[in-house]
Amino acid sequence: MNAHAEEYYSEVETMPPGQRREYYLGQVKRQVAYAYENAPAMRAKMDEAGVKPGDIGEMSDIEAIPITTKDSLIEARRADPPWGGLLGVPPQEIPRVYLSPGPIYDVQSTDDNFFIRWRRRMHAHGFRPGDVVVNTFSYHMSPAGHWFDEAIRQIGATAIPMGVGNTELQAQVLRDMRATGWTGMPSFLMAIFNKAEELGIDPGKDYCLRAISAGGEMGGAQIRQKLHEQYGIQSYDSYGTADVGLISYECKERSGMHVHEEILVEIVDEITGKQVGPGEVGQVVVTPFDRCYPLLRFGTGDLSSMVEGQCACGRTSLRLSGILGRVGQAVRVRGMFVHPRQVNEVVSRFSEIERFQAEVSRDQGRDRIVLRIALKGEGPALEAMLQSLQASFEDVCRLRLDEVLCVSAEDLAGAEKAIVDTRQF
Ligand SMILES: [Zn+2]
Repeated sequence: MNAHAEEYYSEVETMPPGQRREYYLGQVKRQVAYAYENAPAMRAKMDEAGVKPGDIGEMSDIEAIPITTKDSLIEARRADPPWGGLLGVPPQEIPRVYLSPGPIYDVQSTDDNFFIRWRRRMHAHGFRPGDVVVNTFSYHMSPAGHWFDEAIRQIGATAIPMGVGNTELQAQVLRDMRATGWTGMPSFLMAIFNKAEELGIDPGKDYCLRAISAGGEMGGAQIRQKLHEQYGIQSYDSYGTADVGLISYECKERSGMHVHEEILVEIVDEITGKQVGPGEVGQVVVTPFDRCYPLLRFGTGDLSSMVEGQCACGRTSLRLSGILGRVGQAVRVRGMFVHPRQVNEVVSRFSEIERFQAEVSRDQGRDRIVLRIALKGEGPALEAMLQSLQASFEDVCRLRLDEVLCVSAEDLAGAEKAIVDTRQF
């Protein structure tokens, strides 16, 4: 028996490279044929490009299928509401619909290919049957809370659905329930630990935490490093999107993120849409082998590259180097994507604003978003208007502004972009 056998969740993780190539080719051919037969929007896209499922003979042939953009999902649903011809199963098989900024409506898949990715990731991150896991991802509108909850239950552990906020209560629950696992954003775990110390709790000694799955924010690696140094807690990252679910996960080697066997990942040039080689940066384009929501070549808008060679953990899957940024202008703040058009929408509700710009920065490991506005005419901004602006921003972007700053129109003279990101990753 392999010395690392306990490390793996399923044997596909260590398939020899030749077998892996055959496996993927078979899956891709089947998935393209399935999407063509069952999802009218995918069929229309392929017909328009003059590609038939039978044309996919080699892996490289998939490049003939145009990339499915986030915008095209919005357009498809607008043209053919509510599902946009994107489903591969009858609508009654869809248990939940989530909201992403846009709004984009993402469906919960019931395909086992969807949750096996979650079980594998939880296993790789050290979660085991019998664990008691505090889940701090939001259960409201966006999918992360429900997905983690389901994954915790599917691996035979108990979930405590805490969601976001309530730091003091969170600090107590970890101790009272002797939680062995925790899921959420690394900066939030840090905030809980800080609160715990205020309450006289020593997270390193008084907690039983063993398995931590901390992800969902860019730049989280530094905070995870700090968690390790300060509290001896190991945590691992993973990557996924609300549209397609999990894509890749870190193993204990932390040498990139292993791509799941239930999804095809390509890295493509931002301009040409053609696949690039290992180490080259491009857009992450994914084709999940999913019956419910069979998106073909979905462009995530995230930038990454493939790591060369095989991982020391023994898994033979491709690895993503990490997320290096975003294609275009959408910016991820505290785990939420903010599109410039959302900021525009908020500001357009206030006729007294002449110019504006949102700025995203990082302060002591936490993302900070500030909206700078210049008002028409003279005079101070009314408190009521500022409050209403805050509320509108929270409503549309589902994110709280850290500050609204009133500046002069000259100060924003060159500010053409709705959002600027000054963080260094
Ligand atoms: Zn590995």
